[in-house]
Amino acid sequence: MLDVSELHVSYGPVHAVRGVSFAVEPKRITLVLGANGAGKSTSLRAICGLQPARGGSVRLDGAELLGKRPHRIVRDGVSLVPEGRRIFAPLSVAENLRIGGYTATRSQVAALVDEVYDRFPILAQRRDMPAGLLSGGEQQMLAFGRALMGQPRVMLLDEPSMGLAPGMVDTVLTSVRAIADSGIGVLMVEQNVDAGLAVADTVSIVARGEVVRSGEAEQLREDAAVVHALLGEA
Ligand code: ATP
Repeated sequence: MLDVSELHVSYGPVHAVRGVSFAVEPKRITLVLGANGAGKSTSLRAICGLQPARGGSVRLDGAELLGKRPHRIVRDGVSLVPEGRRIFAPLSVAENLRIGGYTATRSQVAALVDEVYDRFPILAQRRDMPAGLLSGGEQQMLAFGRALMGQPRVMLLDEPSMGLAPGMVDTVLTSVRAIADSGIGVLMVEQNVDAGLAVADTVSIVARGEVVRSGEAEQLREDAAVVHALLGEA
């Protein structure tokens, strides 16, 4: 569905992403692992138009997304959940969700908010609360919910477990699995290697802007030592 091919991104003289390729399919989680500075966030930002690419292609069902403005890419069906969640802390949970519904008609927004509440009942309980008062895990669910308001076909998740209490990591990654199972294709960057591998379908390991290994998660779960070695942790 989403094909990222030979993507290159530079910051001035810094060639941060050097020809990475990823494939994202409905109902599947493609996990991107890599050390700090490997180029993971930059790749996600380029896919959704927040950072210009220097070369390569990003095709959604064959249609090129590179060069389109970010809001057009959201309308085409690709939503980013950024690192650090970036929720609007003083606004209520419901207001944060409605902001995510800017591509929908007014009458669709209420139904979409209800769908998010069905998926994340804790957000329904907290609907009138300022989002800044939610726990880290609840804020991450709100960030997923806000992206779901755009009715995405593909979601790009940048380190959803970052900064969460250990018990909450599994809860959040289980909700990523549920999002994929509902038919959405997920491209997820994670630092939490074992928790990420546990829910992923396919995995790409990135080092210094290049994919150094990719394969089925099932296989790499059995080869955890190789994964850690490729990540420079061995
Ligand atoms: P992290 O897990 O630390 O976010 P990452 O794999 O997501 O790492 P990127 O943030 O994509 O890595 O960074 C890739 C490279 O690009 C790094 O060398 C980084 O220093 C550089 N870089 C990232 N953002 C910028 C920027 N705005 N200006 C200049 N260089 C940048």
